[in-house]
Amino acid sequence: MPQPYVGFWQENAGDRPLLPAFTGQETGDVAICGAGFTGLATAIQLKEKKPHLRVMVVEKERVGWGASGRNAGFAMRLFGLSLETTVLLHGREKTQEADQYMREAVNHVRNVITKYDLKCDFIERGMMTVASTPGELRQLEKEMELAEKMNLPGFTWLEGERARDRVDSPSYRAARFDEHAALLHPARLVRELLRTALDKGVEVYEGSPVLEVDLKRKIFHLPGGEIRAHALLLATNAYSGFVPYLHRRQLPIFTYIALTEPLPPSFFEETWKAPIGIEDARNYLHYYRPTPDGRLLFGGGDALYYYGGDLHRASHPSLYAYLQEKVRRVFPQLEKVTFTHHWGGPISATLDLIPALGAIAPDVYYSMGCVGHGVSLTQYNGLTLAELILGEDTSRTGASFVNRKVRRIPGEPLRTLVAGGIRRFLRYQDLRGERR
Ligand SMILES: Cc1cc2nc3c(=O)[nH]c(=O)nc-3n(C[C@H](O)[C@H](O)[C@H](O)COP(=O)(O)OP(=O)(O)OC[C@H]3O[C@@H](n4cnc5c(N)ncnc54)[C@H](O)[C@@H]3O)c2cc1C
Repeated sequence: MPQPYVGFWQENAGDRPLLPAFTGQETGDVAICGAGFTGLATAIQLKEKKPHLRVMVVEKERVGWGASGRNAGFAMRLFGLSLETTVLLHGREKTQEADQYMREAVNHVRNVITKYDLKCDFIERGMMTVASTPGELRQLEKEMELAEKMNLPGFTWLEGERARDRVDSPSYRAARFDEHAALLHPARLVRELLRTALDKGVEVYEGSPVLEVDLKRKIFHLPGGEIRAHALLLATNAYSGFVPYLHRRQLPIFTYIALTEPLPPSFFEETWKAPIGIEDARNYLHYYRPTPDGRLLFGGGDALYYYGGDLHRASHPSLYAYLQEKVRRVFPQLEKVTFTHHWGGPISATLDLIPALGAIAPDVYYSMGCVGHGVSLTQYNGLTLAELILGEDTSRTGASFVNRKVRRIPGEPLRTLVAGGIRRFLRYQDLRGERR
């Protein structure tokens, strides 16, 4: 039996009947494992390009059960952890190329939403990265200088009052406004992508876990039978650990969210005047936004890897208490607010903190490493993956993070030590910034 939906978004999008589980022995053109943004977007793009293809998607739980139905709904341009880290690890040229890909990704999301009339509360009014401490201010100034040096368009610097004119927290010292960003309702977007895929003739099966993948013969083995296809796609991002090659190259890391009750209209008239999302300038950043029904969603502050890549940690009470306290510090007027929902989910991180997609064997493709920035990225990756599967040579399939060599991550217990070490270093930087 598939597990129930996790979090507010799925509940808010309303229930729908389950699609049948896969049974039998079938042969398709393309078989996709995972019905999140990546799996559905790729299926739609394949059918758009070649309507006659038989495209089959199998999902172990329910469509959108993974990160795609749980995220904060920022459709944004950030590629890796931060601009500075990506330049440090990968150089300016690759960072510029990635930034262009991501701006195109935000445009692509808008175009797909418009083309198929996807009802997902899409509001494209940009986002702010805010600095509340001297350390955050220094970090944000560095990021802004770097963006200017690399001629990355769309950023505006807002000194204290100009930032607070948009969203009024007494803690904001300055902000960087990014016009290439939007907010959306992730679970509604998943539903609408599902509708579009089904309309195009994609076959989607729920409650259908792939138990084993035969990379050579291109077969998915499922409890109800097997699917053979000319091409396979593993669209499983943070949940890719069941494929040994992918397990060795990514870490599932949990991030958590707290959600308030609906807030009085005066909060939006006086405080949250612009309908934009906000992040702060920390390594373990906080991300927050209003929901379409007038609540405040607040997440982040830490991110946790669990021993063995444990994927069953969708709840973290002490982090929820921390997030609630943080909401009250950022917006003192919400001191008495009630929190109604909490949830979490895994993001996928490679060792060099940038995404990876491509082929792991002839005609067997994968996508992972989207960190916390996969909403627009995965939609655009859907187009790139469709092009790869169809053997098309484009600017996207030629991007440097496509078909790249992904560094191996050691096994346990070293894996937990590496993840813990990176976390301690990043948190130390954040705390030092706060103390300054
Ligand atoms: C709490 C949270 C907040 C986030 N906020 C943001 C944000 O605001 N903006 C942003 O850009 N990004 C955000 N992200 C990241 C973003 O949600 C992801 O990068 C993106 O949704 C990944 O999509 P996907 O389709 O690749 O993976 P998923 O949505 O995780 O889909 C993978 C699917 O594969 C299925 N699956 C796994 N194994 C099997 C199997 N063996 N057989 C069959 N099916 C299988 C899973 O059940 C799952 O449904 C957030 C993530 C989390 C967890």
